[in-house]
Amino acid sequence: MLRGIRPKLTVCHMYPDLLNLYGDRGNIIAFTRRCQWRDIHVEVQQVNIGEKVSFEQMDFVFLGGGSDREQNLMAADLMEKSGYLREAIEGNLVVLAICGGYQLLGKYYRTITGEVIPGLNILDLYTEGGQTRLIGNVAVEVDLGGVRQKVTGFENHSGRTYLGNLEPLGSVLAGQGNNGEDKKEGARYRNVLCTYLHGPFLPKNPFVTDYLISCSLKRRYRDILLEPLDDSIENSANQVMLNRLIGS
Ligand code: GLN
Repeated sequence: MLRGIRPKLTVCHMYPDLLNLYGDRGNIIAFTRRCQWRDIHVEVQQVNIGEKVSFEQMDFVFLGGGSDREQNLMAADLMEKSGYLREAIEGNLVVLAICGGYQLLGKYYRTITGEVIPGLNILDLYTEGGQTRLIGNVAVEVDLGGVRQKVTGFENHSGRTYLGNLEPLGSVLAGQGNNGEDKKEGARYRNVLCTYLHGPFLPKNPFVTDYLISCSLKRRYRDILLEPLDDSIENSANQVMLNRLIGS
């Protein structure tokens, strides 16, 4: 794939013991396996509360979802690391943040009990907890790297997220998305993708996984060519869900 060298990517899994709703760890597995199938070496580093991390050395950072209680437990620790994370994001670090992780990259998350969990203020967005939870399967149209595709996932959140001067990840075809009102789902900034979709998201949507792998390789090695894989099983699973949600 790359002339003369075997590429290596370092994956950073943030707070795997706290941010782990709905099998979010499957996102790490999908990223890793799709690299290995192409002979790209992957090292996964787990970072827990109190542990140091050098974001600059990382190629892909993953922040999963968590309950309000778990978000509260790790938010202060993440805040301590926020300066380095912000710098790395400005340097095009590739990040996927799901649900609770997504909310914490914004200005704040006010839970339904009125408690305010301060965010890192890296992304221009905020989240207000709502009385009802937004739960169910979701279909979203996204445009990544000039390719338009429908992705699917499962959402379960009390938080309603509102974007400031920021692009959404995609537009909602079925389900609630960011807030159930504006048809926006997720957010994008540089190489950061945020979404409410669990699933896990990446095993369900290999097209997104490959986009993140490509961005990681481009940032580290510049010259990349990602060989296609056989995604027929994943794509037909996705199609079944799309038929159910939006018709064929
Ligand atoms: N606790 C947050 C909410 O309810 C995030 C939930 C999640 O990560 N699924 O909005």
